[in-house]
Amino acid sequence: MSNIIDGISASLELKNKLKIEIEKKDLTPHLAVIQVGDNKASNIYIKNKKRACESVGISFTHIKLPDTISEDFVIKEIKRLNNDISINGILVQLPLPIGFDEGKIINEINPLKDVDGLTFSNVGNLALENDCLVSCTPLGVMELLRLYKVDLEGKDVCIVGRSNLVGKPLIQLLLQKDATVSVCHSKSKNIKEYTKKADVLIVATGHPNLITKDMVKEGVVVIDVGINKENDSLCGDVSFNEVSKKASLITPVPGGVGPMTVACLLKNTVKAYKIQNGIK
Ligand code: NAP
Repeated sequence: MSNIIDGISASLELKNKLKIEIEKKDLTPHLAVIQVGDNKASNIYIKNKKRACESVGISFTHIKLPDTISEDFVIKEIKRLNNDISINGILVQLPLPIGFDEGKIINEINPLKDVDGLTFSNVGNLALENDCLVSCTPLGVMELLRLYKVDLEGKDVCIVGRSNLVGKPLIQLLLQKDATVSVCHSKSKNIKEYTKKADVLIVATGHPNLITKDMVKEGVVVIDVGINKENDSLCGDVSFNEVSKKASLITPVPGGVGPMTVACLLKNTVKAYKIQNGIK
């Protein structure tokens, strides 16, 4: 049996479920994405999000602003979308150009429309284990672990990377599943000491080949969140060819976490729509 976690199939399954629910319940969810500047990678990500939304029946609005715009203008735009009852999800595409205060801007989003789960309110509610909108990539990671029946209770899980978008929300989600969580970052002294002990290893650093076979134990479950460009092709943070020989399960890049992130954005948009409209 293959040890490859198939994120494409898992995402198709989730998208199909959402499509059926949207049609059956006659839902009209609408996602708005604000982009500032013309970052090439962002252009591609937004195109993928638009395509995915349209494939399940979620309306999509792309607001593209030049990087000459002021922070205040972006905030005004967010406030306009907050007040527009036809908009259910608001996402500010990151990174913003240098000089923009990402934290300040994102925190202007109404938490009920914050489909990236990055406002103070959603981050706090996640830590307190209240129902809230949770960042899409960590949600996607948890969904893959659930689908592949990875038991987390009492297991040693090592996260490499502590960003607000990926590593930090994962800490909370894994604790909620009773895992024992260790977190490594760029200042960690001996990462191998932690990764080698891990039953489940989740890597999100943006460094290709950071994790090599000598750093993992036999039978480990590896979730590679990283997306890096090397010689015109994509790779993760894990040396896939060698680590996959030791892993009981492993996500490929591409085709692992990436598609699940987009599917979870759709899931969050539908969730936001239902919360705003009092639908269970
Ligand atoms: P980020 O904000 O740059 O954070 C990177 C994290 O990795 C930081 O916590 C950093 O430590 C840590 N780190 C960097 N170098 C390290 C090293 N040599 N050893 C250990 N830790 C190290 O990045 P991010 O937004 O979390 O994204 C991480 C990667 O995931 C990127 O490749 C990104 O493209 C990818 N990503 C993929 C998806 C998806 O859908 N698959 C979604 C989001 C991100 P410090 O905190 O000490 O700086």
